[in-house]
Amino acid sequence: MSTGSDPHTVEVAGVPVDTRHWIDGARVESGETFAVESPIDGAHLAEVSSAGADEVDAAVDAARRAFPAWAELGPEGRGEYLDRLARAIREHNDELAAVETTDNGSLLIGNRKNVMARGALNISHFADLARNLPTEVIEGSVRNEVVYQPSGVAALITPWNAPFMLSTWKVGPALAAGSTVVLKPPEWAPLTCSLLADLSAEAGLPPGVLNVVQGTGSRAGQPLVDHPDLARISFTGSTDTARVIGRSAARSLTPVSFELGGKSPFIVCDDADLDSAARTIAHQFINAGQVCLAGTRILVHRSVADDLLGRVTAAVDHLPVGDPRDLATRIGPLITRRQFDRVSGFVDRAREQGARPLIGGGPHPAGELYYSPTILTDVDQSWEIVQREVFGPVLVWQTWESDTEAVELANDTHYGLAAMIYTSDPDRADRLARRVVAGTVWVNCFFVRDLDAPFGGARDSGIGREGGRWSFDFYADVKNIATRRDDQERST
Ligand code: NAD
Repeated sequence: MSTGSDPHTVEVAGVPVDTRHWIDGARVESGETFAVESPIDGAHLAEVSSAGADEVDAAVDAARRAFPAWAELGPEGRGEYLDRLARAIREHNDELAAVETTDNGSLLIGNRKNVMARGALNISHFADLARNLPTEVIEGSVRNEVVYQPSGVAALITPWNAPFMLSTWKVGPALAAGSTVVLKPPEWAPLTCSLLADLSAEAGLPPGVLNVVQGTGSRAGQPLVDHPDLARISFTGSTDTARVIGRSAARSLTPVSFELGGKSPFIVCDDADLDSAARTIAHQFINAGQVCLAGTRILVHRSVADDLLGRVTAAVDHLPVGDPRDLATRIGPLITRRQFDRVSGFVDRAREQGARPLIGGGPHPAGELYYSPTILTDVDQSWEIVQREVFGPVLVWQTWESDTEAVELANDTHYGLAAMIYTSDPDRADRLARRVVAGTVWVNCFFVRDLDAPFGGARDSGIGREGGRWSFDFYADVKNIATRRDDQERST
């Protein structure tokens, strides 16, 4: 669907979107394209340029050439560009929201109210942080001054469940730290990242500072992570893909940051506010459960399990399933037929093994890619439904009798992204929070966090931390300038 006058531009939700790459400040097309369909109704949205090694080389080369001048600008100079970019995102909030919803099926209400605003904040916040990074001085045998030195070209690779938010979460700190960027958006939902390129031009970013290369993981992602001229690779996606990228990065010893999948425990104690816990459990189904941080293993104290289940069932009944463009909808479609088959495969196999649905358990009549919010019980800890990430609206329900048992169940997977703990006893919360394996523990809350805090996963959920100064620790080269003090002859 081109707009007629320009064969490379399609209209999505009334917004013109260029389907080509953005390399060195210009639109570049490829001979090959890949198709993008809306999960809402299967509508064909666009044929997007599909990069191979040549386009990737051009993008890395443009970023490499743009790097010295961008680094030289310093945090203040870069911050002016980034503030303009954040402003441009805010000005186009509703267009970005509408395109994202059409492209990946995420909720329009969330995209309009929170997600795109968070995208803008991802840019402006890290610009501010870079400007205000305190100079750390360690006075020891010498004067050690710690400085953050721009490192070079950062390759940023993002998934489809929140492409704009997760891309800006990397683009903001990388650019603020003085890196130049090659962004490879997800092939299942690439369109808002194309708009990000337009907005970078609107903000006047110099050519080559931000490049967007569209394409699949194998044709575009692989040559990007194999490229020898990268200073950093930041990847958000599945653990399996991270293992492949890790092998490539190892060849050139390129530092990686990996934000990966999860199977997060949601612990409800016998002294918890059960209404609050139930509301938050129902919230795990938002965006059809395609949320890496979702607490997908409900671990509830046996004495309150029946009571909690009644409240959760009532809360889930109040979550309308349907078209994500409807502002009342809370659970939209899964992204593709492949994802739908994956989710239903997990549930069907678990039921064959003996799992019993407490809620849902199959497709939802709202449309082809809709799946009912599902909670399965009578599961064994060793089953894949307990151990593996489903990435759909599917939770498992297990009970426990002692805090030790709760912690053992919580920690008994290979993941360690997040954990939720509901209890009214602060000491118990603290004890449990320290014992669970997780990059983030939410006590009596979920999903809220500050951009200054570290974010990442333990075990198979990731390598490294981003957020706050941790982002600069990753994107920049941390340098120690060790100077002999006046009162000493020499130092070793
Ligand atoms: P994915 O790993 O299939 O793809 C992610 C990105 O990697 C895509 O852009 C893809 O094209 C690219 N890619 C694939 N193969 C590649 C290769 N060989 N080289 C370079 N790039 C390659 O993941 P997905 O299905 O898009 O996303 C879902 C996963 O992402 C889930 O596991 C979810 O938990 C995880 N996720 C994690 C976080 C987090 O912050 N920890 C956030 C969102 C999603």
